[in-house]
Amino acid sequence: MKRFIGIGVLTTTILFIAAARTESAPVEQELINDLVVANHILAKQGVVDSFGHVSVRHPTKPDHFLLSQAKAPSRVTAEDIMEFDLDGNTIDGRGRPTYSERFIHAEIYRSRKDVNAIVHSHSPAVIPFSVTQIPLRAITHTAPFLASGVPVFEIRDVAGMSNLLVNDPKRGKALAETLGNNPIALMRGHGDVVVGPNLRRTVVRAVYTEVNARILWQALVLNTPITYLTPEEGTILENSYDNASKGHMTDRIWENLNEDPSLGLRPRSVRPSPAHSHPD
Ligand SMILES: [Zn+2]
Repeated sequence: MKRFIGIGVLTTTILFIAAARTESAPVEQELINDLVVANHILAKQGVVDSFGHVSVRHPTKPDHFLLSQAKAPSRVTAEDIMEFDLDGNTIDGRGRPTYSERFIHAEIYRSRKDVNAIVHSHSPAVIPFSVTQIPLRAITHTAPFLASGVPVFEIRDVAGMSNLLVNDPKRGKALAETLGNNPIALMRGHGDVVVGPNLRRTVVRAVYTEVNARILWQALVLNTPITYLTPEEGTILENSYDNASKGHMTDRIWENLNEDPSLGLRPRSVRPSPAHSHPD
């Protein structure tokens, strides 16, 4: 009898733990909306296309993160947002498909406690800098986060001949190691991963990485010596983002790029290029 009760308690305890582990924690609608808008901004700016994804660390469960179900970013809605653990398992999957490269997010959140949002994209203008000996460097004041240097992830080092996708934990961990403490790493022949302290700042970084790459390409065509931002200038500008007051820097850029009328924001008939918005 004693043994029976013991097993019963043990079973109950296991069930309780299992329930606790799989329970989805509530998230404020504002953050979900921002994640939806983030998907749409990245799509409209040409950073993501049919592929690519953006995630945010769970605000109250730091070992979980939020990411859309497998879907074209331009079509993502609030109902698509799912919760994952750091092994890439869904907490509230309900049979929905998942991005095969969710391990990028899982392993970077595991290794970088300072990172609260991640964009993975096939940002087209950065690709040349991932496959040539010309490094991606900061050339405009809107991309100061590039001034400290941009590492390039070579997936052959961890996976040999492969489909180039970071679709398992081993590859995700290797990418996180290449990223190190940097805000961005290029992925050879694939795209990049951009991280940041919050969702909006990370989206802004991803957008201006693409813009900077395009401007740098234009400067290289002129075939004269280029004056890049120095790491010191990069640090000064990054500090101005860190300490910006309401209505400046990231706020202003988000206001400019967010066009989603379904989330209570006014649509625009003419959208200025982000290259021309001044983050003062
Ligand atoms: Zn990819």
